[in-house]
Amino acid sequence: MKTLKEMDYSVLQQCMHCGMCLPTCPTYTETQEERNSPRGRISLMRAIADGELDVTKAFGEEMYYCLGCLACTSACPAGVNYAELFETARADVEKAGVLASPKRDAIRWFALRLIFTRPRLLRFVGRLLWLWQVSGLQRFSRRTGLVKLLPGNLRRLEPQAPVIQAKFSHQLIAPVERPKIEIGAANPRRVAVLTGCVQDLIFADINRATVDVLLANGCEVHTPPVQPCCGSLHAHNGDTASAEELARRQLDLFDPFAFDAIISNAGGCGSHLRHYDHLLAGDANYSARAAEWSRKLKDISEYLVEIGFRKPAAPEGEANVRNTNNGVAVTYHESCHLCHGQKVSKQPREVLKAIPGMALTECAEATWCCGSAGIYNITQPDTAGWLQQRKLGHLRATGAAVIATANPGCHLQIANGLAGGTGAVGATPTEVVHPVVLLARAYRAEQKG
Ligand code: SF4
Ligand code: SF4
Repeated sequence: MKTLKEMDYSVLQQCMHCGMCLPTCPTYTETQEERNSPRGRISLMRAIADGELDVTKAFGEEMYYCLGCLACTSACPAGVNYAELFETARADVEKAGVLASPKRDAIRWFALRLIFTRPRLLRFVGRLLWLWQVSGLQRFSRRTGLVKLLPGNLRRLEPQAPVIQAKFSHQLIAPVERPKIEIGAANPRRVAVLTGCVQDLIFADINRATVDVLLANGCEVHTPPVQPCCGSLHAHNGDTASAEELARRQLDLFDPFAFDAIISNAGGCGSHLRHYDHLLAGDANYSARAAEWSRKLKDISEYLVEIGFRKPAAPEGEANVRNTNNGVAVTYHESCHLCHGQKVSKQPREVLKAIPGMALTECAEATWCCGSAGIYNITQPDTAGWLQQRKLGHLRATGAAVIATANPGCHLQIANGLAGGTGAVGATPTEVVHPVVLLARAYRAEQKG
């Protein structure tokens, strides 16, 4: 990837300093400081490109204080490509090594280069964590206070550790599944489903539900059992070389010309996956495939709406509360990278509205970041905590029993907040769930009925 100095200067020039993005930027809202705003950050980037400023530690800290939520891009009338600026700036920070320390370098190598580039190793680590959780060792260490011996950051994060599922995606989904009843066209639509890495370990049921709803809509579904990470974690954290390598591996595994669509069900991953064309534009061996990939990459809700998905005839029936006269009240939290990054906003709502017995109730600031933002809740716990509480307040105020969201990071951030919260305002929701899980349940209920 090019540096700020080498990148297309017109991208750096797009900002016309109007300030329309400022009220939508969470970090600017928190501090009211210009340098913590999109406009301020773009000015810093441009100063570096112009050679007026070096990549310093302060610049690096500013780039990592930014959530990368892309709310500024939705507000911007000039169409500023903040995603490209942000990823280029973070890559510059890593190249310059201004934030380097032995501890940080070791964590980055372990996470970005070791675990998240080897899907089998990641699953092995997931299985160890699962054993730790189901064997009672986790409970024992919490009860006896052993967790207090963990180093500071790990001790803080331990209560938020996600519950690892007993079965991962390859144990729930066959490599090829065909619909029982073919709908419409003579040949069923052929789609590929991306199972993700975090999603595979903690939300494999969402992957299963994704396959179920595609089958119910007449698609033939291909889900390779071992899939590489999409590379979004790497791209957002300045490791462009690994992001490019992982994109090539995806393209080696999935031939985009062989499918009608490639389906992602995680907002953060999808936002990155859509831009493989840009990421590999300079790679003569992969650029054509990457362009086809980007053309076919769809979020699951977007694809369902595009093909005119079948409305279920029965209520979903498994949410364990009914809190309106119309049935279960559900509210929708928008993943930043689904709404701002992919511009998929109304389709998940259309899925929710199509389910009999569910009443969609909107929450305030639905498009605001919940503080998860990749690993932001680990690196910037104070701002992430503030955003989490702000989000929970709005969600509770709706009185909804169910919170729907379509990104694993948001899902965990909200579920952890609810588990640790006071429930002071409004009702305490009982479930956080992906919209396709509710749709899959409704299709299942039809068969039972
Ligand atoms: S990505 Fe989010 S936090 Fe960063 S400048 Fe844009 S709105 Fe602000
Ligand atoms: S809205 Fe766009 S053009 Fe206006 S200040 Fe923000 S980034 Fe610049």
